[in-house]
Amino acid sequence: MSKTLVEVLRKNYETLLERVEKACLRAGRSLGEVKILGASKGQSEEKIKVLYSLGLKLFGENYVQEAEKKIKNLADLDIDWHFIGRLQTNKAKKAVMLFSTIHSLDRLSLAEELEKRAKSLNKRINVLIEVNIGHEATKAGVFEENLEEFVGELKGFPSLNLIGLMCLPPLTDDERKTRFYFQKMRNLFERIKPLVGEGFTQLSMGTSSDFEIAIEEGATIIRIGTLLFGPRM
Ligand SMILES: *Cc1c(COP(=O)(O)O)cnc(C)c1O
Repeated sequence: MSKTLVEVLRKNYETLLERVEKACLRAGRSLGEVKILGASKGQSEEKIKVLYSLGLKLFGENYVQEAEKKIKNLADLDIDWHFIGRLQTNKAKKAVMLFSTIHSLDRLSLAEELEKRAKSLNKRINVLIEVNIGHEATKAGVFEENLEEFVGELKGFPSLNLIGLMCLPPLTDDERKTRFYFQKMRNLFERIKPLVGEGFTQLSMGTSSDFEIAIEEGATIIRIGTLLFGPRM
């Protein structure tokens, strides 16, 4: 393992922690309320290992095949693996086996398949509903106007533990727009919470480019890729 790689990743991680801490201070939140998820798609196992040794224990993958290899090779490490990408129904079984948590539940057919697979594996899997907060044709996710109905439908799936909401807002340089979408997510989260109950606690939003705004608006999980790891392969 090269010294420079360790030094670069240490610097990235420390800088990120400082910025997260400052954003928490500004928002009057405690550091413990915000979890950092290392978005490790297209990043090497070596880099994951280094970040793990620096204290990062939560990683998120986008592709089941890529993740399967990494999770096998890094099985010795006590990593909590989340799935954050688009999930094809025919990969649901593998996903249930590999991950503790799926951030990208976006349709009933996927919920049905996850329920079936989780049940037969005797496992309860955490899920977040992905919300298409900008109504973008290119993005997955439930529209906000359909969210309550979808949450109601999930009541029939005992193997799915609904813990929160996730979004990827429209890409823009305009901070006010980004903040507007995150505020919308926070409001949706508060509206859905009483419908689900106790375990509904997670708001997964914010990436390298907008995590500080996300924290200010209530994110509990931020998903950081390039800022932590550097460019993807
Ligand atoms: C890749 C990815 C991220 C991380 O994005 P960066 O800009 O690299 O921080 C976060 N969330 C999802 C869903 C992703 O696919």
